[in-house]
Parts: sequence; structure tokens; C-alpha cells
Amino acid sequence: MKDLTDSLSKLVDKIRGASHIDEETLKEVLKDLQRALLKADVDVKLVYELTKSIEEEYRKEEPPSGISSKDYLLYLIYNKLISIMGGETEAKVELTKRPYVILLVGTEGSGKTTSAGKMAYWFSRKGYRVGLIETDTVRPGAHDQLRQLAEKLNIPFHVDPNSKDAVDIALKGLEKMRKEKVDLIIIDTAGRHRNEEELMKEIKEIYNAVTPDEVVLVIDSTMGKQAAAQAEAFNRNVPINSIFLTKMDSTSRGGGALASVVRTGAKIKFVGSGEYLEDVELFNAKKFVQRLLG
Ligand code: GDP
Repeated sequence: MKDLTDSLSKLVDKIRGASHIDEETLKEVLKDLQRALLKADVDVKLVYELTKSIEEEYRKEEPPSGISSKDYLLYLIYNKLISIMGGETEAKVELTKRPYVILLVGTEGSGKTTSAGKMAYWFSRKGYRVGLIETDTVRPGAHDQLRQLAEKLNIPFHVDPNSKDAVDIALKGLEKMRKEKVDLIIIDTAGRHRNEEELMKEIKEIYNAVTPDEVVLVIDSTMGKQAAAQAEAFNRNVPINSIFLTKMDSTSRGGGALASVVRTGAKIKFVGSGEYLEDVELFNAKKFVQRLLG
């Protein structure tokens, strides 16, 4: 099956390649856009609303002087996608209370632990005192990885390699971090269990025990369509408030991320673009859509 990004860049090529946008081309382009988004599992209602509003805006007014009908149509498509992804302004990141607690969830390999370190780095650079907690009792090496990240950043952390009780580790960690008087506590969770049900059960238990201020879902941008299904599965169990999109240094253009945003209603806040702690930036919807459309 074609990826969303392939279909969208073909669509852009079609618009660019047309001599001008006549009625037939307009209909075709809107149909292609619908098809591409539906194939990427974007909600049907949203797809129709989106293409309808592009069509209405296109028909309402002549393109601004000096702008061709092709560029105008492209501009309208860009703008609509940007508004879905969070608009023109940079993602907002605020710690509305102290300590602010973030619960990080996502499947194994998505880059969760690395992203916990990246967020800790980002907030530390802003002058906040950050603490890290590792509750993954399944993946071998998760504790060591988190410990190394925390030591590199010289920040407090809590791990317990001898415990299999993720909720207990989280609560002990919170207690320790409160004593450390940190501004932000980031709790990393397991990304795999015996089965999905077990994983979701554990995450829900941690969520209920720690009542975090924000749940951040980590999504691997190379995952494509599967990402949206995963996002939905997590969102059914705990309310996803925002997204950390990883591996944007890959060739992937993030079609799965668009579908995940639509499915969960959560906005992307951070983007990871490499294996190092410093490879993190705030999400920029404009940049994302430019890349998505190629
Ligand atoms: P977890 O199982 O979700 O905790 O995943 P890890 O944090 O262990 O990351 C899995 C792999 O992805 C590791 O090899 C990381 O170095 C790598 N990784 C994480 N984030 C990024 C990223 O933004 N870009 C690249 N290229 N690799 C990443």
C-alpha cells in the first residue's frame, strides 16, 4: 500500500504539472487528496471537511494578484494541513505547576528512553531542575540506559533493577524527586509486555497512581500507517495529551504522525532528529507540512 507521503507528493506533482487548474483538475486533485488521507486512516469526516473547505476557499476568491491558480491551490492545501498539525506558531511548552509530572508512553523501540533524556536536556537548558524515573521492568538495559542519560545530564534519577513492580517504582521515584525539589519529573514506561493487554494495564495503573499532568506519546516517524493504530490504542487507555515524534532525521516524512495527531487530537510538541541528547527541537507544523508534501 502506498504511503501517505508518496500520495501527497504525487498530488503536488500533479498540481505543479498542470497547465492551469480547470474544473476537472480541481475535482481530481481534491479526490486524490481525499484518497491519500483516507488511506492513511485519517478520520472520514475530517477528510471531507478538509477538502470541502479547500474547495470553498478556492472558489470563493480569485488568487491574489501575481499568484497562479496552481500556486494558490497548493497554498490552500498547505495551510489546511498546517492548521491540523497545530498552526503556524511553534509548539507551546509550559510547566503549569511544580513539580510538573510527565508520563512517557509508546511502543518499544520508538525511542522513548532516548526521548526522556532529550526532554530532560531541553528543560534543563531552560533552567529547570529535572528528574528522571525508569519504570520499565521488561526491557533489559532500560535502567542502565536511563541512569547513563541522567548521569550525563547530572540530574537526579530513580531506577530499581530489582523490582518488577512498575507502580511501586513510579511512586518511590516521585517521593524521591519531590525531596530533590525538581521542577519537572519525567516517568519512562515499558513499551512491551507479555501482550498488549498487559502493557496497557500496567500503564493505566501507573497513570492512576501518579496522576500525571501530561501524558506524552512517543511516535517513531518511520512507522507510517501503523503509528496511528498504536496511537489510538494508547489513547483508549490513557488520555494522550501530546506527542514526541522521533527519528525525523530518517528519510521518512511523517505521514503516520499526521494520522496519529488526527486520531488522538493531541498535538506534536517535540521532534527528535538523531541519537544524541541534543538532537531535539520544538515541533514546527510549517516545516513538517513542507516536508510531508515534498
Ligand atoms: P525505547 O525502547 O522506546 O525506549 O527506545 P530507545 O530510546 O532505546 O531507542 C531505540 C533506538 O532508537 C535507539 O537505538 C536510539 O538511539 C534510537 N533513536 C531514538 N530517537 C532517535 C532519533 O530521533 N533519531 C534516530 N536516528 N535514532 C533515534
